[in-house]
Amino acid sequence: MPSSRTASPDPIDELLTQGELASSPRSALSRGRKREPSEPKLKPRVIEPQRARRVAKSRVEIIRASGWEAWPWLIHGFSTRTGGITTAYRPDQRSGELNLGFTDTDTRENVIENRRRFLKALGAPVDMKLVTLKQIHSSSVLTVGEHELAPSCQGDGLMTNQPGILLAIQTADCIPVLVADVRKKAVAAFHAGWRGTVKRIVESGVGKMRVAFRSRPEDLVAAIGPGIAACCYAVGEDVRSEFGSQFSYAADLFHEVSDSDPVRQKYPMLFLTARAPGHSNLGPSLHLDLMEANRRQLLDAGLRAESIMVVGDCTRCQSNRYFSYRTEQGFTGRMLSVVGIRG
Ligand SMILES: [Zn+2]
Repeated sequence: MPSSRTASPDPIDELLTQGELASSPRSALSRGRKREPSEPKLKPRVIEPQRARRVAKSRVEIIRASGWEAWPWLIHGFSTRTGGITTAYRPDQRSGELNLGFTDTDTRENVIENRRRFLKALGAPVDMKLVTLKQIHSSSVLTVGEHELAPSCQGDGLMTNQPGILLAIQTADCIPVLVADVRKKAVAAFHAGWRGTVKRIVESGVGKMRVAFRSRPEDLVAAIGPGIAACCYAVGEDVRSEFGSQFSYAADLFHEVSDSDPVRQKYPMLFLTARAPGHSNLGPSLHLDLMEANRRQLLDAGLRAESIMVVGDCTRCQSNRYFSYRTEQGFTGRMLSVVGIRG
């Protein structure tokens, strides 16, 4: 006997169809607005949040790019929030945290001690010099030579072929990207939030390595570190139009993510409120995949796909492991992503 469940339509569906209420979130969103032919089509995709993993809170953890141990002269790593002495951001937690940025909400002494612990866990020689920037969401990339950079130097990318220097990018949701020329022995580190990404910091940064170090793209390896992933990075239409004006592949980077509540998803009209248009939390939100955006820039710069490693961890989903600016509404620490050449 055929199951009546599968044979006949859902009675609620039927009822709503009769009342012209059945509607997908997409059609609810686009009703009354005809899609222009030139407007890039969004790929609807199911993006599940990542599962939060259990982490050992008392030890310094270093995330490394798989395969990079093949070059013993190359030193690199991404930090997490565990294993430090900072108590500002999680005062209830027994173990301190590894804030590596000089924020207004942590003490200088804490950050210095945390950095010492991080460099020790990284296995960096004690005389290696850590170089950071005042990051400004630009596409500015500075070369670190024999002369030291002033700590107030502004920019979002660093590169060097000098041994003994550890280039460092500070993040808490933005995407850190590390690049190494394994033939010419040169390294670079980039800070890519959406503004830096739309300004092509990584793509133009690789171009600057080619000029400065005569790097060939086929000799470059890259690692895209933990940051806010497509599951959590909801953005406004303004961000989509900025990307649309810059990249032919912009449509591949944005996804409409529907409300996770299956009842809301199926019957959005049932949840209509009297709120003004645009002020309802109904309907899908627009999510940006910044990791993929930066992977595309590396590919466009000539790197081989197999030379690009993506850690993939979402700082917002995994906010017990990583500092996340969005999760903690700005009241958070900073991770460091570092790369350098051993002296
Ligand atoms: Zn996420």
